[in-house]
Amino acid sequence: MNSKTDRSTPTVRTRAELLRQVMDWKRAGETVAFVPTMGALHSGHLSLIEKAREKASRVVASIFVNPTQFAPGEDFDTYPRDEAADLAKLASAGCDLAYLPTVEEMYPEGTLTNVRVESMSDLLDGIYRPHFFYGVTTVVARLFLHVQPDVAVFGEKDYQQLQIIRRMVRDLAFPIEVLGAPTARDADGLAQSSRNLYLTAEERRNAGALQAALHRAAMRLGAGALPSEVLGEARTLLSHSGFGKVDYVTLVDPATLLDLPDAPLREGTAARLLGAAWMGRTRLIDNISVSR
Ligand code: AMP
Repeated sequence: MNSKTDRSTPTVRTRAELLRQVMDWKRAGETVAFVPTMGALHSGHLSLIEKAREKASRVVASIFVNPTQFAPGEDFDTYPRDEAADLAKLASAGCDLAYLPTVEEMYPEGTLTNVRVESMSDLLDGIYRPHFFYGVTTVVARLFLHVQPDVAVFGEKDYQQLQIIRRMVRDLAFPIEVLGAPTARDADGLAQSSRNLYLTAEERRNAGALQAALHRAAMRLGAGALPSEVLGEARTLLSHSGFGKVDYVTLVDPATLLDLPDAPLREGTAARLLGAAWMGRTRLIDNISVSR
């Protein structure tokens, strides 16, 4: 294990080194919380580390840009990577150990096994990125088996991902408690994302409209407005705010992610409003809870 200065986080790159440390902790009666990431860390990621610290005595974060969740032509090669800065941020957030596996460590040569959460992975983002959630669940299942945490923390920012992982954990009986953490936002409401780095200054000024449109729609739905009208208004607002193609703005059941009927939300029920739209060459997603 490489214990660097106190401004970086101890780092392991192999499963064997990782397991040695985690097993030492577990033998000493400690609990382990895990936060998987793809790096380019921002304060949204660090809020997950803080939540993890509240839930367990040790926190492990992984940084792995997972090739199986990128399609050819997506941004795997250009995805932002800054290991030294990430390790310093993890240290300042109180992370105990960073796991930075190689592709070979995660996908040993000749590997044939994937994890697919059917149907939920084919909705919403799965329509536009058909490979995506299969890559996510495959790598998260592998990371869970490597880290063997008691608790794992995921952001509500990626709401569909969070619900799919909850389902995977339930279906495969992973002995892991999955926790969601609220979305960290910039002052104008834009959800923090590593991909926000791709936005030009003008696009960045306009991008806050995604959260604003969802927020406004959530208020109207909470007051009993008809979903088809409200969702139409949200799309129009996005188009008038500099967004290009709107992949979806939709109201779904918060657990199954299935579309709700086009009727005013029943009193006492909760739903989730999700949106995905293009700002220039960057695809932004966001979501918000709706209740009546
Ligand atoms: P990523 O590095 O984008 O794969 O994200 C790693 C984890 O951080 C996932 O659980 C994300 O949902 C979470 N995350 C990303 N952005 C945010 C944010 N703005 N607020 C809270 N969690 C986030």
